[in-house]
Formats: sequence, C-alpha cells, structure tokens
Amino acid sequence: MANYIERVIEQVKAKNPGEVEFHQTVEEVLTSLAPVIEQHPEYEKMGLLERLTEPERGISFRVVWVDDNGNVQVNKGYRYEFNSAIGPYKGGLRFAPNVYPGIIKFLGFEQIFKNSLTGLPIGGGKGGSDFDPNGKSDAEVMRFCQAFMTELYRHIGPHTDVPAGDLGVGGREIGYLFGQYKRITNRFDGGVLTGKGIPYGGCLGRTEATGFGIVWYAEEMLKANGEEMKGKTVAISGFGNVSWGTAWKLQQLGAKLVTISGPDGYIYDPDGINTDEKLNMMLELRASGKNVCAPYAERFPNAKFVPGKKPWEVKADLYIPCATQNEVHMEDAKAIVESGAKFYCEGSNMPTTNEALAYLQDNGIIVGPAKAANAGGVACSCIEMGQNAGHTVFQHQDVYDQLHQIMINIHKACKEASEKYYGKYDLVKGANIAGFEKVAEAMMAQGLV
Ligand code: GLU
Repeated sequence: MANYIERVIEQVKAKNPGEVEFHQTVEEVLTSLAPVIEQHPEYEKMGLLERLTEPERGISFRVVWVDDNGNVQVNKGYRYEFNSAIGPYKGGLRFAPNVYPGIIKFLGFEQIFKNSLTGLPIGGGKGGSDFDPNGKSDAEVMRFCQAFMTELYRHIGPHTDVPAGDLGVGGREIGYLFGQYKRITNRFDGGVLTGKGIPYGGCLGRTEATGFGIVWYAEEMLKANGEEMKGKTVAISGFGNVSWGTAWKLQQLGAKLVTISGPDGYIYDPDGINTDEKLNMMLELRASGKNVCAPYAERFPNAKFVPGKKPWEVKADLYIPCATQNEVHMEDAKAIVESGAKFYCEGSNMPTTNEALAYLQDNGIIVGPAKAANAGGVACSCIEMGQNAGHTVFQHQDVYDQLHQIMINIHKACKEASEKYYGKYDLVKGANIAGFEKVAEAMMAQGLV
C-alpha cells in the first residue's frame, strides 16, 4: 500500500511540474493516509487517490480591465473545482501577485479535507488571480472584480460552486463580484458567493469566524492537554481578517497576544494587543491598503517594530501563524522549540514547511493543522449558504454557538482518528484521515466519475 501512495505522489509531481506547493500538500496528506489505505485495498482498484489528486475541473481565463490611467491591464484568472463528492465545490478566491496554478491547486486540495472536517455538505474548490489589490483604487478593484466575474459566472452557482474570500478578497471584493454576477444573470442567487455584506444576505459573524474558530480549536488542544487559554502568552503573524478575529477571541478568553506582523516586519507589544483601540488599529492597517504593520508602533509607543523579521523569535506559550503559506521554515521551528512553547496552531493555510512541521512534532510541540483549525471560516460560509437557501437570517449568537460546537467536533474527530489509526494524539494525521474518510466513502459510492 505504501507503494500505491508513493506512486500517486510521484504521478502528481510528474503531471503538475513545478507546482511545488501542490506537491508539498499532496505529499503531506497522502503519507498520513497510509493506515487507512492499508485497510481498504479497493481504493487502489478504483483509482481513488489518482482521482482525488486530479481536480474534477480547472478553468483558466483572461481578465482584462482598464486602470485609472486608462491603461489596459491583463491578469490571469483561475478556478479549480477539485472535488464535489460531498457537496458543491466551496472555497475562496485569492488575489495576490504570486498566484499561479500550484498555489490554487494546493489550496483547493486542502479545501476538500477542511470542508469535509466541518461535518457540513461542501466539496472543495479554490480560485483566484495574480491581480494585486494593494495600492489599487476602489474603482480599479471594482473594474477588476467585474471583469473577473464576467467569465467566472458561467462556472458557479448555489448548487455548483460557491466561491468566497481568501487573501486579498474581503467584503469589498465580494460585494463587487456579487453585483456583477447579479447583473449578468438577472438572479439574486444569494448562495452563489459567501462572505457577503450583511444587508444582502451575508451571515453575522462571518468576518471574525475564521479567527474565532482558530482560537476555539486551539483551546480544545490546550484542554486536551490539561491547560487553559487564560494567561497564555501568544504570538501570531499577519494583521488581516484572520489575525484580527484571532486577536479578538484571544482577548475574550484572557490570553495575552504580544505580536502581529506584515511583509515589512513584526510588532512586539509587551502590554498585549488586547484593547478595542488596538484591535481597531489592525482594521485600520488593513484598510490603508499599504500592507504594512509599522504604523502600529507609532500609535502605541510601548510597542516595538522589528523590521524585516518574523515574530517566531519572540518567546510565547502558543504560536499561531495567520499570514500565508510557508511562513514557518526550519530556523523558525527551531526558535519555537527553543522558546519552550508547547503549542503551535496553524491559522493560515499550510504556513509550515513539511520539514519544519516534522521538526516541531518530533520535538514534542503539539501542532494544530490549518485544515482543521481554520475550518471555522468555511463552516460559517456554509451556515451563510443555509441562511440564503432558507430565505432567512440567523442571529449572531446562534452562529457563534454553531461555530463553537463545530470546532469542538473537529478537534474530537481529529483526535479520535489519530488515536484509532496511529494510537496517539496527532492532530495533523488525524485531520487528514478524518477529512478523507467521508470523501472516500462518498466517492466509492458514486462510482467512477
Ligand atoms: N478562504 C477560506 C478558506 O481557506 C474560506 C473559504 C470559504 O469560506 O469558502 O477556507
């Protein structure tokens, strides 16, 4: 069986040359599935892993728009519809200059397992563009989003594929995308996009859902190991939506958050990033469109800005990377181990290189994997789809209560799967297995499609 897994990993590498992020995630996931594949020889006969690693559909398209100076701009647009075995394709759109198929495929592949872990009926997909919203005017962002949707609308729908936000795509972009979808189709299909504004079908709590979910998941990790969140010193990276929701929930649970970061460096705030004013400052940083965190230290003089560095050199009890993929390398993992920390919970998608992940786990750090810990965002999106389908509105507290329970369930599923197949508490392996089992069963039931 190990041979089967190795063969599929090699095939994926050969079929998707140069797409290193996709190779990385396929290797990480498939390797942990070994004991399950062992028990199901029929999976090999039915080419299950070959099918799982090949997107059901991939769309690449040209996006043409005109900038404020009247120049024609051409970007690449993508949507990889990866797996619809348990529900319509679901996953975000990422707008960032480094976007290429390898990034969208890694995110789409991860999304299959993440969405399955939520326990909700959603398949996996991801899309995006190499467009960089930073430094663009509102009008430029609108024209770009309209041009992007003018192609994408053909491929999506409430029962087909439901995009949402990701890096570079927030409420503003979703608004423009939704407006254009409605204009072209003449349909108010609320459930075609999630992360919408509250007045037009958005779900209360969606903005903070990913961050809240991460902290609730981390809280379960702590509890399972006889500890509590209150009083813990926490270091996170990023300052966008996910970091902001994480900071807010950490504050509510009495932990002390001491760092945030941007591409320009990191902020160390020894007093804690724990007042409404400081949380609002994170929103201001994002709204500035400059993609820098340094101004935080100008506003709060006790805080220090450390240029060009990542926050992993700061001593903490719990680390939560919330910025982007591969932001924690081997040298960072070593610093985290040296700090004496016990817990590391991934917030952003695949923030840890495979090598760094293995080092953290080998050195006794308890790791919460992103596909489980950050599943609260997409879970809330599915709640939004339910709200739209039922032509209703859910109350804020109802959404929080559902979300909290979902995060508790995900932790339990990861824990039980790893104990069953590996005889130990390993949430990384457990998340892959628990996410896989349901999708595999559904794919087997649906035959060779
Ligand atoms: N982009 C988010 C993620 O990585 C959210 C996706 C969604 O809400 O569909 O899961």
